Amino acid sequence: MNKVIIFSAPSGSGKTTVVNHLLNVIPELGFSISATTRKPRINEENGREYYFLDENDFNTKVANNEFLEHEEVYKGIQYGTLKSEVERLWSLGKTVVFDVDVLGGMNIKKQYGDAALSVFLRPPSIEILMERLKKRSTEVEHQLNMRIEKAQEELKYENKYDVVIINDHLNLALTEAEMIVKIFIYS
Ligand code: ADP
Ligand code: 5GP
Repeated sequence: MNKVIIFSAPSGSGKTTVVNHLLNVIPELGFSISATTRKPRINEENGREYYFLDENDFNTKVANNEFLEHEEVYKGIQYGTLKSEVERLWSLGKTVVFDVDVLGGMNIKKQYGDAALSVFLRPPSIEILMERLKKRSTEVEHQLNMRIEKAQEELKYENKYDVVIINDHLNLALTEAEMIVKIFIYS
């Protein structure tokens, strides 16, 4: 059976850290590269973290029904999962890993049912989340505030996910994530 794993978490919870670890240690996984209208960060590359599109190109893909799901995650910034990504990864025999916001996560889970495992990664507290975001230094002040505001909303969705992992001590969270994912893909 073709399977998918959905990771959602408020920005700064450690989703990228956990997902990258899983991709490194579990070769059966393949990352679904989303499209976004956000500008690349300093160490991001088009076609690696995201397909960076302008508004027009993104809207054309929406009109052509090329997205499995898409959301305006932050005001004026669009993100979306391309159907072609899922097909590409399944054709390679991979279990697809999504890093999406809570609405995207709910949407994908609804479409794939038992073939999907949804995982919510939670920071130990909102204060620690703020600290991590500030330390990461990738966002200017207003974007940081936008992410913290959104985080409060996103935390309300955790009980809608199949599994919740608390990312306090990183090594513990990585081990837990690895175990949960392996059980799902090998069962
Ligand atoms: P996200 O993808 O959810 O926005 P990141 O993976 O970029 O989050 O993590 C945000 C920041 O927090 C990064 O600088 C990362 O190195 C750090 N981080 C992640 N997990 C932990 C942890 N358990 N303890 C301390 N710092 C962490
Ligand atoms: P960032 O800008 O920090 O890379 O991501 C911001 C948020 O957008 C994160 O919550 C991330 O999970 C979400 N996101 C990334 N790609 C997609 C996508 O394809 N669809 C949806 N719905 N959300 C996404």
